[in-house]
Amino acid sequence: MPEGDTIHRVAMRFQSALVGREIEQADAPSARSPIHTRAAELAGRTLERAEARGKHLLLHFSGDAVVHSHLGMNGRWFVRGDGRMPFGRPWLVLASGPAVASQNGGKILRVTSAARARNDPLLMQLGPDPLAPGFDPAAATERLLSYEPAVPVGEALLDQSLIAGIGNVIRIEACFLPRVSPWRRIADLTAEEARGIVDATSWVMETAIAKGSRPKQIYGRDRRPCPRCGGRVMIRGQGDDNRVTYWCEGCQR
Ligand SMILES: [Zn+2]
Repeated sequence: MPEGDTIHRVAMRFQSALVGREIEQADAPSARSPIHTRAAELAGRTLERAEARGKHLLLHFSGDAVVHSHLGMNGRWFVRGDGRMPFGRPWLVLASGPAVASQNGGKILRVTSAARARNDPLLMQLGPDPLAPGFDPAAATERLLSYEPAVPVGEALLDQSLIAGIGNVIRIEACFLPRVSPWRRIADLTAEEARGIVDATSWVMETAIAKGSRPKQIYGRDRRPCPRCGGRVMIRGQGDDNRVTYWCEGCQR
């Protein structure tokens, strides 16, 4: 499932394959694409920058056009340099020479302007992104400690206005590493534990970028013993969206 690290990796692939190039073909073959009638406007423009902000991707084109994309639960980007066109009917295809990018499915896909993207309420409310240059872990720790006191930490971490880019795997692992139960209320976190969660979040995301997959110690381990203490790994839904949550009852308090 796409989380912040996924989108940063997509932006990096755009950077090496398509940034600086003029888009020769822009198309939205799927009639279900939200930009089915607008994709062609991108042809002839140069892709100037690919920017990941949490789970959002912004593609900045010459002539003041921006593509704003969010993959949601099931969307996918493919970016390749071998000239092969994507299968099926993508929501967007951008091609230049042998470089081809396509998005299939997703929650958001729109063409907008730089000014509108800057003032987009969804983007403006995003919290700091651990993968962004200049991320300040002390400030992020303060944000976590001053979140709604009664909310369980595992639920708070899904709020993109707290820290941007965290998804289900990252939040589970970020609680496991500093031994904090995702069910603990924010009010009951120590400053040291909150800092541990922030540092673990950065570590999981940076490792995912470096290795190409997220390091998972407890996610998906129900019915198997905890790798740290041998205790029982529990599973239950959490929050309004009932997100699947793993924790060890032996070593997470
Ligand atoms: Zn354990």
